[in-house]
Amino acid sequence: MQVLIVEDERRLSQALEQILKGEKIQSDVVDNGADGLDYARIGSYDLMILDVMLPKMNGFDVARQLRQEKNATPILMLTARDDVQNKVRGLDCGADDYMTKPFAAEELLARVRALTRRRGEVVLETCDFADLSLGMTTNILRCGARSVKLGFKEFEVLKLLMAGGEAITPKETLLTRVWGAESSAEDNNAEAYISFLRKKLHFLDSAVGIETVRKVGYRLEVRAR
Ligand code: CA
Repeated sequence: MQVLIVEDERRLSQALEQILKGEKIQSDVVDNGADGLDYARIGSYDLMILDVMLPKMNGFDVARQLRQEKNATPILMLTARDDVQNKVRGLDCGADDYMTKPFAAEELLARVRALTRRRGEVVLETCDFADLSLGMTTNILRCGARSVKLGFKEFEVLKLLMAGGEAITPKETLLTRVWGAESSAEDNNAEAYISFLRKKLHFLDSAVGIETVRKVGYRLEVRAR
């Protein structure tokens, strides 16, 4: 499970990160609304924890924009105080739930569980692209009658590429999302996984290939048969 935390109060975002980490939930942290929007757009986050008062773009606008773009990532909005108007406004903008600061770790975790469970019921079981179907919980990649199980990182890389489809997925995005913002994963690392995936696509006899866009990233291409 991967959570996006959009919070400009460093102490609070660190606390959130630690609480989630204690439950083995990974999170990415950004400290302004514009970055939050960018990350959420790229992402396959299971949940977004979104502060209301943020630099560059406030939480209401971030939520509204994502919903306009049909981004269904569950949003837990943080409001500064027990402010009914803000809560209503947050829900109107597309947030799924809200939490008032300050909060206890247990309350946060209960809400995280509830929101991700709710998502679990509607989430697609497979991610499909051209002749490929990737099982979201099984990590099994199918093409016609053939199938192959992907390793954890292969799965994460391919999931992002499939979400991007024929648009370019920046290498930076892959490194950040799969290896984490603070990891020192070398570019070669991504290259290696792309190469494993290409072999598996070949084995599956898929029409889909992974094209390298030099110095930018990767995109999926569907070859004519
Ligand atoms: Ca704030």
